[in-house]
Formats: sequence, structure tokens, C-alpha cells
Amino acid sequence: MSTTSPVAAVLSFAEASETVHRYCRNLKLPETELVALLHALNRVLAMPILADRDFPPFPRATRDGYAVRSTDVKNVPTTLRVVGQIKAGGNFNKVLNAGEAAEIMTGASAPSGADAVVMVEYTRLHDDKVEIQRSCSAGENIVPAGGEARAGQEMLPRGTCMGFAQIAVAAAVGQPVLKVYKHPKVAILSTGDEIVDATSTPGEHQIRNSNSYSLAAQVILAGGEPVQLPIAPDEPAALRKLMEEGLTADLLLLSGGVSMGKFDLVEQELARLGAKFFFTGVNIQPGKPVVFGEAGSVPFFGLPGNPISTMVTFDLFAQPVLQALGGSLPVRYPSAKAKLAKEIKTKIGLTRFLPAVLSGGLDVPQAALVAWQGSGDLRASAQANCYIVVPPDREVIAAGEMVTILLR
Ligand code: AMP
Ligand code: MG
Repeated sequence: MSTTSPVAAVLSFAEASETVHRYCRNLKLPETELVALLHALNRVLAMPILADRDFPPFPRATRDGYAVRSTDVKNVPTTLRVVGQIKAGGNFNKVLNAGEAAEIMTGASAPSGADAVVMVEYTRLHDDKVEIQRSCSAGENIVPAGGEARAGQEMLPRGTCMGFAQIAVAAAVGQPVLKVYKHPKVAILSTGDEIVDATSTPGEHQIRNSNSYSLAAQVILAGGEPVQLPIAPDEPAALRKLMEEGLTADLLLLSGGVSMGKFDLVEQELARLGAKFFFTGVNIQPGKPVVFGEAGSVPFFGLPGNPISTMVTFDLFAQPVLQALGGSLPVRYPSAKAKLAKEIKTKIGLTRFLPAVLSGGLDVPQAALVAWQGSGDLRASAQANCYIVVPPDREVIAAGEMVTILLR
């Protein structure tokens, strides 16, 4: 039987989110390991990446054309003497004097004396002379040596999550092996007498465990290593035993058993294990009964069992903690604005994160709610690619209004 929770604090979304972010700021950094460059994709850097030389290492031409002294091409058309050709990777040891031009290719080193490159499109070559048809200013089409970064300068800070652009940076500075943080281990514990494993045939009133799988997938995407525990029954001793096992991980995620039902035992049994609670509910929909706390020094979340509530509360609260446990710099919620395709009517009091489809091109992205049967509707959720965020003071949002969306 459930008892009232030891500390009951139902927060606003902003308060809960601040609680989570404050907790993240005080976490210890995880252990590190070395991985080959490409295996660092989606990993978190445990070292800063420094420029091993100036970037670019030489004044780099960014266009095919003619390297010139800009003062020579103030008045156009004008004709300059072509004194050589510079390929990318090539050496040109002469100084460019007044009245001279050098044919140059993109990526080649601009000769000393030259301070601009005139694009080939604005030139005409006659034997060893080139007619310049457009003037250009000092610096045009040349990035000076060190213009992007100086030797020794930080290119990527520690805590960066490595995407493809960051992998390119590490390659460019010649780092074939990177020090990254180890994946935090995340125990996943689904609770409920009605839940059976996804591989078994459920009885008439039973349902398959989808939450352990959605959570494991979310954990992997957020940089964790999921450990799926057996399903816990709604029975105190068995539930507590599995919780204890889960609390040997770096983070414990529970699903189900945090609502007001008689067999919602999660908070009660966590309390018996000496847990501290930071919040025991948030004024959001879906996911109002979400619980956040710590047992020993291990953070846990009790996520409501309705599948969409589980997904949303993971995204809003568990993901930032997981990222911080993984050594990541603070990450903001990936939000944007889109035009609401169809009116939303709701009730005031809760911040809502409603499954929606973001469509349209680059001009005016449109968002529309998916038709759903509430927070148990997996089919509707699988059609959604974002959530529309409805602030707690809005009852009606008209079609055409710009709304905040949270990408997922
Ligand atoms: P609860 O949060 O335990 O009250 O569960 C809320 C709803 O979510 C109920 O309809 C449960 O059957 C369902 N549910 C709970 N856990 C899971 C799970 N692991 N997989 C799928 N559905 C679940
Ligand atoms: Mg339950």
C-alpha cells in the first residue's frame, strides 16, 4: 500500500528545470578512456583540442583568380603582368611587386606583397598580361595566417560532444587518438504487475514493456550505457531489491509506480532506502508525477509509466543529468519557433509538451499536434518529431501564432 511521500514538492516546470541544472553543476567528472578519432563520434571530450599550428598556416586564397596588390586595382580596368602560377600546396618564393599579379588557385598560399585575390571571373588573360575588370579591397579572398586560430589556441573545449564538425577539427590538428569520458551506466527499472517482457506473449490484461526499450534508446542517444533490469512487480520487497541493484549504476531510471494509485510504491520504497527527494511532481503534461532525487550519491528519476510521459520526462529532466554525468558542458533544450497549423485549446495551470509534427521548408516551419489518445498513445508519439510547448497561462492558441517547439 502506498503512503504519502516523505517530502512532497510539486514544482513549476521552470523550478524543476532549474533544480536539475543546479544538480548538474555539482557533479564529479567521470573517468576517461582513449579512443581512435572516428570512435569519438558522439563521445564527450575529456581534453581540450588545441591548434597545433596557425589556422590557416599561411595566407590562404579562398578563390581561384589572381593574387594582386589591392592598391594596383583601385581603378579598373587595369592590366598587370603575370609573374607566375601558384597551386594549392605549391611554393612561390617571390615577392609580388607593384604592377604584378600571380595566377592563384583556391587553397594556395598568397605570395608576400599580395593582399587580395581577384576572382578569375573578373579577369581576362592576354599572353603574360591579365586585365583586371573589378577592383577589390585589401584582404579580399585571402584569410590571413592565424586568422581562424593561433597555434596553441583552444579549438574545442573539454566537455564538447563530438559531432562531425568537431571530428574534422581533431583531424585538422592531427589528433588520431582522443581522450573521452566513459559512458555513464544507467540502470533502467520498469515497474508494474501488468508489465511483461517485450519478447513474451502478454495475457489478456497485460502489456509488453516498451518503456525499458524507449528509455534504453534515449540513454544511448544521450551518451549513456543502458542496463535493463528485470521488470519489478508492485510488491515492496521485490521492488526494493531491484532498486538497490539499480543504485549501483551512475543513474537509476524507474518507470511507473509514481502516481497516486494504491500500488504506486516507488517513492515509498525509495524513501525506505534513505533517498532524498528534490521534487515529487512537476506541473507539466504529460508527466506530472515525475520524481527526482538521490540515494547515497546516485541520482534517480521516477518517471511516470505512461509511455509518452516516460519519454517526455526523460527528455526534460533525466537527459540533462545524464549528459552532465557524462562530462558534457551544459546543453540547452533544443527549441525553436514554428507557426501553429491548427488552433490548440487546453486548460491553464500546466506547461504542456504535446507531441507534434514539424513540417514545411526553411521559410516558415509549421507545427501541428498529432491526434492522440493521451500519454499512453505510442502510435501517435511515433509520428511526432517534436513537442509543441504550451505555457501554463494559455487556454487557446490560435492557428498562425508562433509557438515554441522542443525538438526531439
Ligand atoms: P503507472 O505510472 O505505473 O501508473 O502506469 C501508467 C500507465 O503506463 C499504465 O497504463 C501502465 O500500464 C503503463 N505502463 C507502465 N509501465 C509501462 C512499461 N514499462 N511499458 C509500457 N507501458 C507501461
Ligand atoms: Mg504501475
